Amino acid sequence: MSPSPARPPILIVGAGPTGMTAALSLARSGIPCRVLEKRSSPGTSSRALGLQARSMEVLAGLGVTAEIERAAYRLRGSSILRGRRTVVTMGWVPPESRFPHTYVLPQAGLEGILRRRLAAEGVRVEHGVEVTGVDTDLDGATVRIVGGEDIRADWVIGADGSRSATRESMAIDLPARDTGEAYYLADAILDLPLPLDDGAMWLGPEGPLMLMRLPGEEQLWRVFIDVSDTERRGVLPALDAEVLSRLLDERATAGIRVRALQWTSVFRTRMGLADSYRTGHVLLAGDAAHVFPPFGGQGMNLGIQDAVNAAWRLASIIHGADEQLLNAYETERRPVAEAVIADVETRRRLYALRNPLARAGRDLLLAVGGRSRRAARAGSLQNSQLAISYRDRTPGGSQGPEPRPGDRAPHAMFGDMSLHELFGPEHATLLLFGDHPEPVPTEGVRLRTLRLGSAEDPDGRSHERYGVRPGERAWVLVRPDGHISARGYGAPVGLTAVAGPASPASR
Ligand SMILES: Cc1cc2nc3c(=O)[nH]c(=O)nc-3n(C[C@H](O)[C@H](O)[C@H](O)COP(=O)(O)OP(=O)(O)OC[C@H]3O[C@@H](n4cnc5c(N)ncnc54)[C@H](O)[C@@H]3O)c2cc1C
Repeated sequence: MSPSPARPPILIVGAGPTGMTAALSLARSGIPCRVLEKRSSPGTSSRALGLQARSMEVLAGLGVTAEIERAAYRLRGSSILRGRRTVVTMGWVPPESRFPHTYVLPQAGLEGILRRRLAAEGVRVEHGVEVTGVDTDLDGATVRIVGGEDIRADWVIGADGSRSATRESMAIDLPARDTGEAYYLADAILDLPLPLDDGAMWLGPEGPLMLMRLPGEEQLWRVFIDVSDTERRGVLPALDAEVLSRLLDERATAGIRVRALQWTSVFRTRMGLADSYRTGHVLLAGDAAHVFPPFGGQGMNLGIQDAVNAAWRLASIIHGADEQLLNAYETERRPVAEAVIADVETRRRLYALRNPLARAGRDLLLAVGGRSRRAARAGSLQNSQLAISYRDRTPGGSQGPEPRPGDRAPHAMFGDMSLHELFGPEHATLLLFGDHPEPVPTEGVRLRTLRLGSAEDPDGRSHERYGVRPGERAWVLVRPDGHISARGYGAPVGLTAVAGPASPASR
């Protein structure tokens, strides 16, 4: 393992899923980085549970999805119940992806996989190093740490979670609003008196109680219980097996036995988005830039995709691309967080309803929506984050055949691999459709070229998904984060202009 460079091009604050994904993307791009983590050892609490399809696609380019697929299970669906009666089963319509599910794996498990992969790439997370502040200047940034010397870096990524010291020292405001709900959280081994799907929810008069099956151990469940009313009436009692049993009895159904309690916590809901994602040579990513409740399992996924977006841009700049390339980090990622926060807020309000009439209306809406295949398809696509597009902020994105510049590059098979397994943070990918006898001018560009002729695409599916007619000569340039950068017909042109000097593709 190579020693940490004294002045790394990039320093990452925080070794959560966001920080480690950024580090892995940079390591794969050949950019040395240091990762500072205030915890003295890896975390064990399980917070986030679900990896969505889009995160799996970008993680595929980092070489970690095989291990994730072994450790996780694929969520099949969840139900809303009243007592022991199923009111509605929320179906999942698998979207077009090599990873068309939600992959249930507690956050600590994912962090372990990322940490091992990082170590294999030569990057060791530096545990027990707490950052107290960051300063930025024209030439780079200085990071202050507890009990040690300041560290200089060309760029700093603040991936230090919702109470980010990086964000505070940049004086970037994150106007978060307490939304007033309190939830008990527990990981518990339960004996159930009835078979349940992977997820189950009871929407009673005191708010929701949700169960989600966890991988690894038989009968291990994550329990979420809205205890806002109890808290408003006085002090919340400590959550132990007896309290949990009583709440499950009263709010779910009688006869659930708590065999063991592995982890408990109380979660208070907050919503907010940082005013800015960057000051000078310092960027924010993940929970440092956005906070919201875990309904829909989106937060960690947003962080992973922030990380990949920031990392390929920084890698390109360090390889020689213009710093302007970084501007689109915020203009692309902040609106995505804004939209997710709006969606989570809708769910939060629906779950928080107390008025009996309003609750009855909501339950009817959920029951009707749950029976509609169209709604299930739309919900699955939204939850998977596969529909995220930057086309309205990308040159060439407003017209022409679909998919357009800024859109996610669609999934298609290339031999026995998905294109998403062949895209990667260290290079752009040029897809060539039809006959291209002339050599591709790739000098000075970090580019992988894949030819998709009739031999490689016998059923024509890749052509169809990329909006190319059979036999047509076309090209599509895919950015290192799996979004389309540019496309055209005939021989590819302007690749160096698009890709920048010896760097992955930029715009
Ligand atoms: C109960 C619960 C359930 C959730 N469920 C889901 C889910 O199913 N799906 C989903 O997508 N999201 C979920 N989330 C949200 C998810 O946990 C977060 O979005 C995710 O952890 C964000 O990752 P991050 O790396 O940005 O931040 P964090 O995971 O918070 O990591 C930040 C890291 O920075 C370190 N750090 C902090 N300050 C410093 C400092 N000054 N110096 C050095 N290091 C520092 C911390 O120790 C930590 O390791 C859930 C959250 C909760 C609380």
